[in-house]
Amino acid sequence: MLTEILTDEQLIDLYTTPGYLVAVDYPKEEVKLHTVDCMLADPISSVGVKPSKARENKTGEFWVSESRKEANSKAEEIAKNKGYTYIICPICNR
Ligand SMILES: [Zn+2]
Repeated sequence: MLTEILTDEQLIDLYTTPGYLVAVDYPKEEVKLHTVDCMLADPISSVGVKPSKARENKTGEFWVSESRKEANSKAEEIAKNKGYTYIICPICNR
């Protein structure tokens, strides 16, 4: 099931659950696919995504699915609709 992530806490709670994060960055015009345990998908990490802030500033959106196929489809759909670049994270790609 695809779930929209609206807050940092929601994502932090999912950290130990296997799954995939679709991170949409509006300013960068980029859609990135991560595993939820990637450091770039960790709001606590200084380099990690910050869903609360992104939502507040309208700079991005985030989706999580336990299925890579489903997360991938969502990422491709957003990339296509917005004309964004779709990137599979090189750090957590597996
Ligand atoms: Zn990653």
